Amino acid sequence: MKIVDVDIVPFRTAVDRFHNGVLRPQAPVTQTLTRVVTDGGAVGYCLGGQGHGDQEGLTPAARSQLLGRMKPLLVGHNPFDREKFWQWMWAAKMPENLMGVVDMALWDLIGRVANLPVYQVLGGCRDRVKAYASTYPNMGTPDEYAEHALACQRAGYQAYKIHPYYYWDPATRRDVPGRPSHMRWDLDVCRAVRAAVGDEMTLMYDPWGTYHTFEEALLVGRELERLHFAWFEHPMPEHRVQPYIRLCRELSIPICSPEIIDGSVFTRADWIQREASDISRIDVLRGGITAARKTVAVCEAYGVKCEVHMSGIGNLQVLGASSEDTCEYYERGLLAPGVDYDASYPYLKEPCDPLDADGYVRLPPGPGLGYALDWDYIDANRVEE
Ligand SMILES: [Mg+2]
Repeated sequence: MKIVDVDIVPFRTAVDRFHNGVLRPQAPVTQTLTRVVTDGGAVGYCLGGQGHGDQEGLTPAARSQLLGRMKPLLVGHNPFDREKFWQWMWAAKMPENLMGVVDMALWDLIGRVANLPVYQVLGGCRDRVKAYASTYPNMGTPDEYAEHALACQRAGYQAYKIHPYYYWDPATRRDVPGRPSHMRWDLDVCRAVRAAVGDEMTLMYDPWGTYHTFEEALLVGRELERLHFAWFEHPMPEHRVQPYIRLCRELSIPICSPEIIDGSVFTRADWIQREASDISRIDVLRGGITAARKTVAVCEAYGVKCEVHMSGIGNLQVLGASSEDTCEYYERGLLAPGVDYDASYPYLKEPCDPLDADGYVRLPPGPGLGYALDWDYIDANRVEE
C-alpha cells in the first residue's frame, strides 16, 4: 500500500464558546478534515489541529505548510511506516501540532484497515476513562464558579479543574493585558468551589503560567494544599525550569507540568530527570499519538504520572491504551455556564466523548480514531479556496 495523496477539507461550522465572562452561542468556526489517501482506497482522517481539543481547524498558513512541506514526505511511501515519518517530521522541524495531525490520520488509517479502534491497535488497556470537568478561564465571579462546579458534580463528574483569571480583572470584567495575575481572586474561587462541592470531589487547578514569580506560585500552592487540591498545574511560565525545581521541593501538592512548552517527549523526559515537576503532561498536538505514547512510556518507566492534556478523540485513544496508574484522567471541556458541550458536533453522527453517569468517558467503538463523519454536512458547508 502506498500513499497517493494528502489533502485538507475546510468547512464552516459553529460551536458554543465562552470568552471573558460572556457566552458566545454557536460561534462560527472553520473546521478542517485532513485526509491521507492510499492507492488501495483506504483513507485516514484527522479533524482539527489547533487550539483545545478537536474543535478548531488548521489555519490557512498551517494548511499550506502541511501540504507544501509534509505531503511530499509522505506521498509514495507505505502509510504503515508511522515511526519513520515521525522521525522524518521531527528531523525536518515540523510544527508539533502539524506532526500530530499527520500522525493521527495515519493511525486512523491503520485502524480503519484493521477494523479496530486505534487504542486496540496500540494495545487496549481500558474502554472508559475517568473525566474531569475543565472550565473556561475568566468564567465569572467566585460564586459563579462554585455554582458551575456543583452543576458538574450533579451531572456525575468526580473531578473538576479550575482555570481561574487570565489577564482579566473579575472586579471590572475587563481585559488587563500583561498584568501577571489576580492571585487573591483566584484563591477566592478555589475556596468557594471547595466549600460548594465538599471534600469528596477531586479538584485541580491550572492558572496557565500566570504567576510570574516563584513567591506567588508558592503562596497559591500552600493554599491549594490546605484545600486538598489534587494537583497544581502549569503555575509559572515554563521557559524557566529552576523555579519549578524549587517549587517542587517546597510544596507537597504535585506540580503538573510542562504542558505547552515545545519539545514533546524530549522536554518531558528532561523535566522528569531534573525533578522540575511531579506529574508530566502531553497531548496529541505535541507530536501526535506516537509522541504521546513515547511520553507515557518514559513516565511509566520513572514512576511519574502523565496526565493527558486537553479533550479530543486522539487523546482519548492514547488514554484507552494506557494504565490508569500512569494516566488517570480525561480532560473534558472546556466547559462554562450555557456551553452545551454534550451536543454532538453537527459534522459527527455520534459525540466523541459522552459522559456516563459515573463520570467516565467511553472510548469510541468505531474503527480508527472513531469519527462518525457526516459527509452530507461537511459537503454542504465546504469552504472553497
Ligand atoms: Mg492546562
